[in-house]
Amino acid sequence: MTEGHRLDPSDWDAFAADLHRTAEACVDRLRAARDLPWQEPPADMAARVAIRDAADPGVLDRILRDVMPYATGNTHPRFWGWVHGTGTATGVAAEMIAATMNANLGGRDQGGAYVERAVLDWLRGVAGWPEGSGLMTSGTSQATILALSCARMRALPQVRQSGIGGLPPMRVYIAMGGHSCVKKALEVMGHGADAIVQVAAPGGRMDLDALRAAIAADRAAGRHPLAVVGTAGSVNLGTYDDLAGVADVARAEGLWFHADAAFGFWTRLADAPWRDLSAGIERADSIAMDFHKWMAVPYSAGAVLIRDEALHLATFRERPEYLAAGGAGLAGGDWWATDYGLELSRGFSALKVWATVQGLGVAALGAQITDNCRQAARMGEMAEASDLLDLAAPVVSNLCVIRPRRGDAAALAAQLQISGEAVFSTTMVAGQSCLRAAIVNHRTTMADVTASIHALEAAVAAV
Ligand SMILES: *Cc1c(COP(=O)(O)O)cnc(C)c1O
Repeated sequence: MTEGHRLDPSDWDAFAADLHRTAEACVDRLRAARDLPWQEPPADMAARVAIRDAADPGVLDRILRDVMPYATGNTHPRFWGWVHGTGTATGVAAEMIAATMNANLGGRDQGGAYVERAVLDWLRGVAGWPEGSGLMTSGTSQATILALSCARMRALPQVRQSGIGGLPPMRVYIAMGGHSCVKKALEVMGHGADAIVQVAAPGGRMDLDALRAAIAADRAAGRHPLAVVGTAGSVNLGTYDDLAGVADVARAEGLWFHADAAFGFWTRLADAPWRDLSAGIERADSIAMDFHKWMAVPYSAGAVLIRDEALHLATFRERPEYLAAGGAGLAGGDWWATDYGLELSRGFSALKVWATVQGLGVAALGAQITDNCRQAARMGEMAEASDLLDLAAPVVSNLCVIRPRRGDAAALAAQLQISGEAVFSTTMVAGQSCLRAAIVNHRTTMADVTASIHALEAAVAAV
């Protein structure tokens, strides 16, 4: 072995054979996704994966045997728990290429930056924004921190220098049932959980009169209304705020309008009526969305769009001498991702998104979104027609919430998860525990929907 190469394979042909075998195992697993529901990790899982001192040349086989089988199971066609994407084969291949390039997408003049910008340009088009800025993120939680930081920078440009000490308490408005990532963002930004104001949302839509009243009350009490978060696709019910109405209030009150569109953004690619659910989002100041949920891109990949590029740069750009831009050479390139967010070193998640959108085509992705909405509607009809189940809330997009007439929703969900028949998660609707299906699954068929409802009915009947 030549010195300096000890971390590379000593025998590239043997490595190629190992990699081919691993690739075959991955393809086999994807091909058999229908037969591979979630499996509980074995009792000795921690011991199996504990790191040992000695190098293990068989590590790939160990991963295939001891790790790969124990995924969340979201690759299975009857997995509808929480909001979990399924992942594409195209994305798997792109991940391998990205790892091979080992590109650090923080900045510098490299092809990956063009790919990331192409993804962001396309995303802006879907949002209906003629221009604007953006960044790929690890997901909507991270995107939300970036968006709300820009909102704060617009209102309080001194904040980067002098922090938030001495400022009036900030307030950010979100519909009841809006995602907790907004609260966490405000906590890490130093405003505390008190900064979040949950606005009444009958039927899952923010009450705009209640929003105006809350803003007025906060102003009267000396607090600073900063932003309103409109939700496109609520995590509990799949509902959409009246985003045009939210935009009107935000404009009239001088607030930033951020849209949490983590999965619901993608109904914009679907057929009517779903494609119009997020109308008004084109007026947002910022939008957060995920590729790893409804776009089926392997985890993790999300993005933020910020309408005002100068403000976006003013919020995050920081170039000490060791990061100075050069005109020619590697340090060139006029778009450095690190100027738009918190991370300096960052991976090439844009490639798996680009490969998925470009390789499979926007039409196929849109048809997939439409299918999932139709499946949720069908699930809702079946629950309504059932003697053993009730539909707990109207199906608006891809989410169906079902109340069993007997038995405990959590116990029923666990029973179906363990039997491998279907994965629902649970939630509360009107104070009652329900099973919840968020269908963001490109492998689900209508037959899966029917079979899972029958399995649930059988479980309820046996209570
Ligand atoms: C999943 C989700 C989030 C959080 O996104 P992550 O990508 O998991 O960080 C925020 N809002 C909504 C509506 C979501 O569904």
